[in-house]
Amino acid sequence: MIEFKNVSKVYADGTQAIKDFSLQVKRGEILTLIGPSGCGKTTTMKMINRLIEPSSGAIYIDDKNIKDYNIHELRWNIGYVLQQIALFPHMTIEENISIVPEMKKWGKKKLSSRIDELLEMVGLEPSIYKKRMPSELSGGQQQRIGVIRALAADPDIILMDEPFSALDPLSREQLQMDIRKLQQEIKKTIVFVTHDMDEALKLGDRICVMKEGEIVRLDAPDRLVMQPGSEFVEEFIGNRKSPWQTSVGNISSTDKQYIISSSDFADSSNLQPGTFIMTDENGIYQHMLINGKAVHGPVIDSAMSLYESAELIKDSSQTIFPVVENQKLVSVLTYRDMMEFLLNQANMENGVVRP
Ligand code: ADP
Ligand code: MG
Repeated sequence: MIEFKNVSKVYADGTQAIKDFSLQVKRGEILTLIGPSGCGKTTTMKMINRLIEPSSGAIYIDDKNIKDYNIHELRWNIGYVLQQIALFPHMTIEENISIVPEMKKWGKKKLSSRIDELLEMVGLEPSIYKKRMPSELSGGQQQRIGVIRALAADPDIILMDEPFSALDPLSREQLQMDIRKLQQEIKKTIVFVTHDMDEALKLGDRICVMKEGEIVRLDAPDRLVMQPGSEFVEEFIGNRKSPWQTSVGNISSTDKQYIISSSDFADSSNLQPGTFIMTDENGIYQHMLINGKAVHGPVIDSAMSLYESAELIKDSSQTIFPVVENQKLVSVLTYRDMMEFLLNQANMENGVVRP
């Protein structure tokens, strides 16, 4: 729905901030722009609501060149949240939120119920906060008002330029959760600028990594982490690893219940129903034994990552798999172990302490 086509921006002093930039932001997605200071993130954002004009190329919203929109309508339809908390200090919270809806000539009743709804959405009791002045609120609360003010007139697009970077870590995390929760309800198209990879990964449906006015990489968070593709992106990601990159040896178990050695199994008359892994007397993997039948299914190498293993086994109907090192069976990977491992990792990431 927002499309940049070969956009460049050269400032009056000759600084080339954006170079031949092409990008599509899909309707209803959160796209995070990330990159070092000076790489052109703010310039990119400000071109969307025409605070800055491109030097060449064009930007489209819903296939219409933004130059062809009435500038007021364009801006009313784009909420904008800045890094600096920019509430008007002499207006109450209610008045601050009302600015754009009033310009759009909303009726009193509609406006009043909208304000209550927005304050409730971010956990601020309307009867308490409506009449307060910005200075009576904490930094985190003020920025929360900044966010809902941008949403007030129900714009289709929201631009957020490092909106939480001035906040303490706790307020920041709270607001990131607010945004995720809000987005599930409102499904806006959001462009979110940050220089913090954690924030980008947490919030973005897709992440656009920028460097010196150009796109280095545009991809979903998990793909970016698993396959950075360049040193620049890798450095940005830091040493953060996805659980999917864990070596399968850390997840598989050495539980013997699934293993049958040919030496234990001389007599085919005591075949058992169920799925087993068959080895020879030296522990070399032979084949699976499923309800008494030899089956040749996927074999996982112990050096593989969980991701590579999952790719390998995803089409198999088995739920347990042999893990080998030089053909020798070293452990067993089960769907149950994988599930438990991933769930634990997710819980750790979300700070859930398991009993
Ligand atoms: P970011 O938001 O990623 O830090 P900006 O978009 O603010 O980057 O800036 C990109 C480049 O353009 C930087 O080199 C910056 O110094 C330069 N720049 C930004 N605004 C202006 C301006 N008004 N005039 C000249 N150069 C500018
Ligand atoms: Mg900036």
